[in-house]
Amino acid sequence: MAERTLAIIKPDAVAKHAIGDITHRYEEAGLSPKAMRMMCLSKTCAEGFYAVHRERPFFNDLTTYMSSGPVVVVVLEGADAVKKNRDLMGATDPKNAEAGTIRAVHGASIEANAVHGSDSVENAQIEIRYFFAESELR
Ligand code: ADP
Ligand code: MG
Repeated sequence: MAERTLAIIKPDAVAKHAIGDITHRYEEAGLSPKAMRMMCLSKTCAEGFYAVHRERPFFNDLTTYMSSGPVVVVVLEGADAVKKNRDLMGATDPKNAEAGTIRAVHGASIEANAVHGSDSVENAQIEIRYFFAESELR
């Protein structure tokens, strides 16, 4: 099976009507959407998803922000999917993101930075399972 990663189009990007541009970038890069869901995360759901960051000073703000409006959760599949998506995203802080990357173009701040992407194959599997049942993925 080709490599998979989990992307989330965050509330700021959904609000500014960037869903189409961002999903187009995934497809243009050869990353195939395998499952996609638009949904509002509860605060508890966002806290579970970002549990690795629970000791960080920004955890409460981050999870409040992630539950502030609808997001689009996407499973992407393709060769080198994790790294390819991280390259498309750009650096965490849009100010430091390479020109033309999703965060450089659409990110508003280090917190409201348009997209999430898994940082390793292992974490991608955990994150995909957090949102999608095995039966939703083929
Ligand atoms: P990335 O999303 O690039 O993998 P991290 O995993 O380090 O970055 O952080 C997760 C998310 O937490 C970031 O995408 C961003 O929304 C938020 N975040 C990271 N660092 C900060 C910070 N210093 N202040 C506020 N929010 C932050
Ligand atoms: Mg991360």
